[in-house]
Amino acid sequence: MTYISAELRQLVRERANGCCEYCRMPDDDAFRSHEIDHIEAEKHGGMTIEVNLCFCCWICNRHKGTDLTSRDPETRQVTLLYHPRKNLWSDHFRLDGARIEGLTPVGRVTVKLLQMNKSTRVKEREILISLNRFPL
Ligand SMILES: [Zn+2]
Repeated sequence: MTYISAELRQLVRERANGCCEYCRMPDDDAFRSHEIDHIEAEKHGGMTIEVNLCFCCWICNRHKGTDLTSRDPETRQVTLLYHPRKNLWSDHFRLDGARIEGLTPVGRVTVKLLQMNKSTRVKEREILISLNRFPL
């Protein structure tokens, strides 16, 4: 695992307002602390620099792994995953109650691969929304 300085970790966390840049789960309410994700994994040449790092919950990070693409569940086309530095969340996702809906092929593949709407995750999101602790 590559060393990431405390200053760079802090910058990535603050830039994300302490929330996962994929599913928006706040770090303060997560069972395990969020992590710094290499958006483009090091094995694909991704570097440990600000533009290739994002703040990511443990669950999203485990499902994403080193993947860069997946197949769109609607068209079966190989599609790039959501890129927090290049894409705008609201262009690709929206909340439908406590479910995250993919609005584009990028959104759909990311929701599916990262299992953002697994029942336990939706339940957790419902609770946080009801407590005004989830960023809407
Ligand atoms: Zn997440």
